[in-house]
Amino acid sequence: MSADHDAIVVGSGPNGLAAAVTMSAAGLRVLVIEGAAAAGGGCRTEELTLPGYRHDACSAAHPLALASPFFRRFDLAARGVSFAHPEVAFAHPLDGGRAACVTRSVSDTADRLGADGAAYRRLVGPLARGADDLAGAVLSSLRRPPVPSRALTSFGLHGLRSVEAVAGRMRTDEARALLAGAAAHAMMPLSAAPTAGVGLLLTALAHAVGWPVAVGGSASITDAMAGAVVAAGGEVATGQWVTSLDDLPPARAVLLDVAPRGFLRLAGSRLPSRYAGALARFRYGAGVCKVDYALSGPVPWQNNMARRAGTLHLGGTFEEIATSEAAVAAGRLPDAVYALVVQPGVADPTRAPSGRQTLWAYCHVPAGSPADMTASIEAQIERFAPGFGDLVLARHSRTAVEEEAINPNYVGGDIGAGMQTVRQVVARPTVRWNPYRTPLPGIYLCSASTPPGPGVHGRCGELAALTALRDIFGIRQPPDVGPDRLPGKSPAPGH
Ligand SMILES: Cc1cc2nc3c(=O)[nH]c(=O)nc-3n(C[C@H](O)[C@H](O)[C@H](O)COP(=O)(O)OP(=O)(O)OC[C@H]3O[C@@H](n4cnc5c(N)ncnc54)[C@H](O)[C@@H]3O)c2cc1C
Repeated sequence: MSADHDAIVVGSGPNGLAAAVTMSAAGLRVLVIEGAAAAGGGCRTEELTLPGYRHDACSAAHPLALASPFFRRFDLAARGVSFAHPEVAFAHPLDGGRAACVTRSVSDTADRLGADGAAYRRLVGPLARGADDLAGAVLSSLRRPPVPSRALTSFGLHGLRSVEAVAGRMRTDEARALLAGAAAHAMMPLSAAPTAGVGLLLTALAHAVGWPVAVGGSASITDAMAGAVVAAGGEVATGQWVTSLDDLPPARAVLLDVAPRGFLRLAGSRLPSRYAGALARFRYGAGVCKVDYALSGPVPWQNNMARRAGTLHLGGTFEEIATSEAAVAAGRLPDAVYALVVQPGVADPTRAPSGRQTLWAYCHVPAGSPADMTASIEAQIERFAPGFGDLVLARHSRTAVEEEAINPNYVGGDIGAGMQTVRQVVARPTVRWNPYRTPLPGIYLCSASTPPGPGVHGRCGELAALTALRDIFGIRQPPDVGPDRLPGKSPAPGH
């Protein structure tokens, strides 16, 4: 690690790297310090099971990357990163070989929902058509009123509610389950607000931009970001956990891609007690237990369209998923889990040797649970794809406790780096006009524990970096992060 950097970023997740990219594009020399052996945080790809099987260790589906204003400017395509779109963005299988399936067309999706087709069109249509406005407003610091639009009015009406309230207008199992499965990404009881907002945003993006996987694996995204930082003269140092702010080399600005709990540890007694108290009260959500599989062939979903889906939501009806999520929130392991599954091989054949497949799955568990939920996840897969077990060549599981051990931002296994209650969506991590600024001069927070929250969109990092550029370097104009201004190496072959 050489000295003499203008800015230091601790943590190399998509937000840490977006901060580093933004500072590099402003002409600053940036050092990124990452504790893990590889850069990328929640956007990494590894051979977790068998040689030749490349698994997304964390994020796998990328509607938010495609919708992100940061990534649009950074221009992943020009940097050699490509996204592969499954024909079905997400499917929600039900007993008896039925499934709700979301494809790019709102109209086709609505037609498949029978009696609820018209209600689906009315609910999701305006959001999908105005998805650019919606993404611009939601993927922001949430500090300024957005430019009004029909999509935002509709999102304001429904998005701040619970999905239980919004699904009340639907009558079919399919439509109700579809809404439940998308909203359960919020990792909260389905009776809690704003679960409808999380589900509707993700569903609108499924129509507007798709839910693609990154060809070669999610790491190709963060590899391109790290490559741009290095090409600009910066450095990405891995395998070095930072335990105190006092240990950092001198720099004018420090951006921390860490959760509030990590910041409290790094700052020690330096923080004013009021701010430290607010950070200590920040609430973390449920945990996840993740399982990755090497398979001898495609999963035999009973429903034909489900076989072509990139992502699947398992757990059955709205009521079953509501029961499961309520148990998790109450600190109990559910009798039947809600599981998210991604089958990258339907769109990206590079993930496994010819004819073979990888499968990615996780389920929600109470925060800090040490339970290995492999059997519960497999019970849900078998329910909708009998014979699945015969295909398993190898599996790799990671409990909620292990998630946090690998990445301290995932407190108790909470991959959202903080609960997404209405309060914590806005006041994230605490009530402040500028949430990225901390009371310590020159020190900024840039992780998913700041607005706009979790997902691979890079906006927390970009917005924190823009604050630091203004405060410390007097740079008020957002720098051009595009490939002309900030060229970078293409991801390595095979990524
Ligand atoms: C299992 C799983 C599935 C997910 N699925 C999706 C998905 O499909 N789509 C999607 O958009 N999002 C998904 N996410 C969420 C997404 O990955 C995160 O929201 C995103 O990565 C957050 O980015 P970040 O930069 O804030 O933090 P992270 O990506 O968590 O990165 C933080 C980095 O900081 C490092 N770090 C922390 N403390 C220190 C320290 N003291 N010293 C040095 N380094 C430190 C960590 O090692 C880590 O590399 C998923 C996450 C997980 C875990």
